[in-house]
Amino acid sequence: MTKAKLLYVETFGCQMNVSDSEKITALLKGAGYNLTKDSSIADLIILNTCSVRAKAEQKVYSYLGRFKGFKGKNPRLLLGVGGCVAQQEGERLLEKVPYLDIVFGTHNLHLLPEIVLAAEKGRRLAEVSFIDNEKRLDLFPTDDTADGISRFVTIMQGCDNFCSYCIVPYVRGREISRRSSEILDEIRKMADKGVKEVTLLGQNVNSYGLKSRGEPDFAGLLQEVAGVSGIERIRFTTSHPKDISPPLIACFAELPKLCGHIHLPAQAGSDKVLSRMNRGYTRKQYLEKIAALKAVRPDIQITGDMIVGFPGEDEADFRETLSLMEEVGYADLFSFIYSVRPETKAAEYPDETSRLEKQERLERLQSLQRKMTLEGNRSFVGTRQQVLVEGTSKRGGQLFGRSSGNRVVNFAADPSLIGKIVDVAVIKAFQNSLLGELISG
Ligand code: SF4
Repeated sequence: MTKAKLLYVETFGCQMNVSDSEKITALLKGAGYNLTKDSSIADLIILNTCSVRAKAEQKVYSYLGRFKGFKGKNPRLLLGVGGCVAQQEGERLLEKVPYLDIVFGTHNLHLLPEIVLAAEKGRRLAEVSFIDNEKRLDLFPTDDTADGISRFVTIMQGCDNFCSYCIVPYVRGREISRRSSEILDEIRKMADKGVKEVTLLGQNVNSYGLKSRGEPDFAGLLQEVAGVSGIERIRFTTSHPKDISPPLIACFAELPKLCGHIHLPAQAGSDKVLSRMNRGYTRKQYLEKIAALKAVRPDIQITGDMIVGFPGEDEADFRETLSLMEEVGYADLFSFIYSVRPETKAAEYPDETSRLEKQERLERLQSLQRKMTLEGNRSFVGTRQQVLVEGTSKRGGQLFGRSSGNRVVNFAADPSLIGKIVDVAVIKAFQNSLLGELISG
């Protein structure tokens, strides 16, 4: 009997990559590879990379160095790099890392079984070509083995916005939307397998369908997804503030299945910095969109991203970021110190702020956010939340799930409730979660 081949996947970066890694796993299962969580016994190690921040890119090289040692123990071990670093570096990566076997780009996931087969026969190869609009179906390999309670569904890829700091349009290509019929088909199949919640995924989901004739816009797509029976909750990420349209805002009032949470990255609070970032909106316009969302869904939870220390950001600009955070009342925030990405416009900007000062600003911002997150969590104590139960929590004897507003809630109950939406009374708040008591199952 031939021994099963083992696949280990290391994922860096965003949810898009998490979703791509799931597809990589499903595609390679068809090529005879079973997933392992132990990299030291794998026959194929894939690093699904991110190059949005320089740190993530450096990590890839350090991981590759670590995995190189495994080749001595297992001569048939193959090492592959996919994702944004692969897209950016292509053949160069094979030259830089002589023990690397495979490089595949963000548009080439569907070719992976063939690429791996060739590598098993001793070929080293890099496939990083972009796909044109006509062949876009190949960009979205579906995972028919998908099950679970909550799943990602990729609806578009790439971005046309060219924010001055961002590498995505260069490594993921221009915006391409998937056909709505295929999206709905995939979601119906998921619902048949017991999936209850879908998160529609893309670099800028709000501009879904705008370049495709005969397709709905994003609000229209949400309405169609809401019509799929068995799907009880819908989320989406990521949104660009300039593309939040009135029909999309209306969906938060009209579609009960649409969860009360939106991830809406502002990136900065000062108009000067927003303009240098080429974000396409002002602070006032951003706050108007937030107000419109709160008007139709007063309990909506807002999360976002902030970049600290963008070239030219001074103390007054930074204070505008802090005040924007307070005005919005973010439930949570991803925040980072700006890092230069080659080829982007911002790479040419002079940057006079010291690293130390940027670090200090980041700490002030994160300390404010921690306080706001805890206060926000405390405001739920005494409320009743509908929780989709996702599994058993790390604490023994408890289940965990998420409220419509995306707060993690732990509570004691029977595991038979996993996959159901239940009412939970919130009795205690922590920094990262809520504790509740089951009201009804
Ligand atoms: S909207 Fe801006 S930050 Fe987001 S992926 Fe596009 S270019 Fe990058």
